[in-house]
Amino acid sequence: MEFNFSALPWQIIFGAGALQQLPAELDRRGYHKALVLSTPEQRHHAEAARDLIATRCAGIFDQAVMHVPIQTVTEAQTLAVAVQADCTVSIGGGSTTGLGKALALKSGLPNIAIPTTYAGSEMTNVWGITEGGRKTTGRDNRVVPTFAIYDPELTLDLPAAISGPSGINAMAQAVVNVTAAKPNPIISALALDGIRALAVSLPQIIEQPRNLEARTQALYGACLCGAALGVGITGLHHRLCHTLGGSFNTSHADTHAILLAYSVAYNSQAVFEGTNRVAHAMGCEEAARGIWDLLHVVSTKTNLRDLGLSEADLATAADIATETACLNPRPVTRQDVLELLTVAFNGELPRSL
Ligand code: NAD
Repeated sequence: MEFNFSALPWQIIFGAGALQQLPAELDRRGYHKALVLSTPEQRHHAEAARDLIATRCAGIFDQAVMHVPIQTVTEAQTLAVAVQADCTVSIGGGSTTGLGKALALKSGLPNIAIPTTYAGSEMTNVWGITEGGRKTTGRDNRVVPTFAIYDPELTLDLPAAISGPSGINAMAQAVVNVTAAKPNPIISALALDGIRALAVSLPQIIEQPRNLEARTQALYGACLCGAALGVGITGLHHRLCHTLGGSFNTSHADTHAILLAYSVAYNSQAVFEGTNRVAHAMGCEEAARGIWDLLHVVSTKTNLRDLGLSEADLATAADIATETACLNPRPVTRQDVLELLTVAFNGELPRSL
């Protein structure tokens, strides 16, 4: 066995009710003026955080949106300067975490992340900002949150329509690393337990959305899967998701959830052992089929047609996705991508094409 491994500077506080620790954690680190970030839909979560940290709150910015538009970053930055914020607290899903990361990148403001979906962004050093209709992403350790508070109680009201796809989005981060051409054993250990926890808990959440134990397992799984991406790699799967999200504005989590079974099937012969390990972690016979079955249990959107794409879009997407080389265990051609997208468009059973 031979490998290199470097961790990111993670600090995690995890547990039901963990949000209550926010004031003491801010004090411990000497932060006195936090700007709380949220989406408009989660203003109530931002207000709860504000009430909790009381005089340590410098204000609320509730305009976070998907894909971190530069205009939003600039507006939040202007407010942060006006209220003399010394840190930001992102309470929400990947869109809100993403805004906190962008501010950390652009103005050096430390970010505290309180994730309320399974996006896992708080465990990665990946940032993204959209400018002029183009999303630029990069890796930079400065965007890793100073600390993250995972409180499963905040996820009890996450709608089923978001919970299922968001959970499979997290699984994707782990699956691509277990099925890498040269998997790293430490990353695989994190990833496999994350896959297991999500495979068990997501169907339970659909049955009983307010089941705290299932919510706890899912959030734990998302944390591990995010960690796997944070120190790991991406491949064809993420290339396809970013192409569809970036060029056709498809929902991030739904796109991941629909495509994962097909991208796993595509690579399955090239990375046979890793694919079997994913199946074993999920407790199923075959990984791609197991992911496809899970999708049909936890989401009503099961094919690319459901995301509003047309058949004509697939050829354009195949062109864009293969404009530059993609690091992937199995070589990628435009024709392969078009076939994969066509099968996913029709929601057919995944097969090794
Ligand atoms: P999101 O953050 O856009 O949230 C979706 C919706 O759910 C929003 O309206 C939000 O307010 C609402 N919501 C979130 N938590 C809730 C809760 N507990 N209860 C009720 N409503 C809630 O979606 P997402 O899928 O979490 O994040 C997607 C974004 O994250 C994309 O822009 C993606 O690129 C980014 N992302 C980045 C990374 C990374 O490592 N940088 C990783 C994963 C995702």
